[in-house]
Amino acid sequence: MRKNDIISLEISGMTSEGSGVGRHEGMAVFVAGTAIGEAIRCRIIKVSKKYAIGRIEEIITPSPHRIKPDCPVFKSCGGCVFRHISYDEELKIKRQRVVDAVERIGGFDGELVEEIIGAKSPDGYRNKAQLPVGLDRNGNYITGFYAYRSHRIIDCGGCKLQPEIFTRVVEIFKSWCEIYKPEPYNEESHRGLIRHLYLRYGQSSGELMVTLVLNGSRVNGELELAQLLKDKIEGFKSLIINENREKTNVILGRKCRTVWGKDYITDTLCGLKFNISPLSFFQVNHDQAERLYSLAAEYAGLSGDEILLDLYCGTGTIGLTMANKAKRLIGVEVIPQAVENAEENARLNNIDNAEFICADASKAAEKLNADGVNPDVVVVDPPRKGLNPELIKTIAQLNPDRVVYVSCDCATMARDLKLFGEDNYTLKKLTPVDMFPRTGHVETVVMLSHK
Ligand code: SAH
Repeated sequence: MRKNDIISLEISGMTSEGSGVGRHEGMAVFVAGTAIGEAIRCRIIKVSKKYAIGRIEEIITPSPHRIKPDCPVFKSCGGCVFRHISYDEELKIKRQRVVDAVERIGGFDGELVEEIIGAKSPDGYRNKAQLPVGLDRNGNYITGFYAYRSHRIIDCGGCKLQPEIFTRVVEIFKSWCEIYKPEPYNEESHRGLIRHLYLRYGQSSGELMVTLVLNGSRVNGELELAQLLKDKIEGFKSLIINENREKTNVILGRKCRTVWGKDYITDTLCGLKFNISPLSFFQVNHDQAERLYSLAAEYAGLSGDEILLDLYCGTGTIGLTMANKAKRLIGVEVIPQAVENAEENARLNNIDNAEFICADASKAAEKLNADGVNPDVVVVDPPRKGLNPELIKTIAQLNPDRVVYVSCDCATMARDLKLFGEDNYTLKKLTPVDMFPRTGHVETVVMLSHK
């Protein structure tokens, strides 16, 4: 196979990035924008030792699940990967990915995977947007997303994944830019002022926070922007300047200044209140987070007498939503600010049986084990790389009745479940939850119980 060859291909699978995969002369060929079951002709645009990448020339037999993408920038934007197939089919693919990981990597029976919990609506769910700001060729302000694997801005104020209120704010922001002309930040030269427009919205409270991320500390017309938003957007509660003078692609700096309104907005999750400031973590899909947490609570099976250990607790949300059914909650999180937020969240909800430890999960678990603390239920919610084998050993030594594993990467999860299996824990069931419809991600909640 050579570059520019045109080949026929049957699409038989799909990657987590939403590319269709077929086999040609024993080699995997990835073609974006295709769907399982399709026969296509594609042009090879890259060949490496192990795989090739193709681009669609012609779809010969389209999938019955193919739909017309309802977003003008779907092809160039790096956000959604599934907009060309129906949501039902997307859910099937995501569940199958979990089944495959559990069977192939974990060596378990795929039947243990329950139905996937899909979203009521696959659109409008993101309560947070970080939109880079730039100028187009004609000098008009644009804001949107970076193109796939690039830092070229695709102008898209009206992303389908966002609530409608964000689209209105983007319009107001752009018209304000046209008056005050803040210079957009240029990553290469490290010059210019305005880096990102950062929006957060309380899905259940209706409160909106607008943050401008600046390569500087102030911008001309900031009070006027607040006034415009106040006049036009119901629920607007806060305008904040975040200062980021670093030459980095990390979006936020450490320093925040409130231009107008409150320093935070408030939202509720599973009946608890949470304060959300520009730097604090909050689940991006409110409604699906509630479903995920309810499921985690069901799997935890608490009755009121238990010690609950919540590892990788972030701002404490999972554990805190279960604290009323536990005797004692211990949360562990490595980022100090998140621990402060977790403590604050406990106070805000008058939860007095919770304590939070700022430490690496493995070290904290070892210390608890050495101190003779015996949690009845352990919840883990690690980043994509999953758990390290030592931590799995230590959890087994802590000897909880149940382990609830919340995972955002089913491959590392399956690897870890296998180790739990070797360490006296039986895999009871798993439920995939679609927290990020239309993107390639899928979360899974797992129940393990002591043999
Ligand atoms: N359970 C939380 C957050 C999960 S995200 C929620 O549902 O909101 C994973 C968290 O693990 C992040 O907050 C991250 O800061 C934390 N983390 C990453 N590595 C860690 C480690 N080695 N030890 C403890 N926490 C860690």
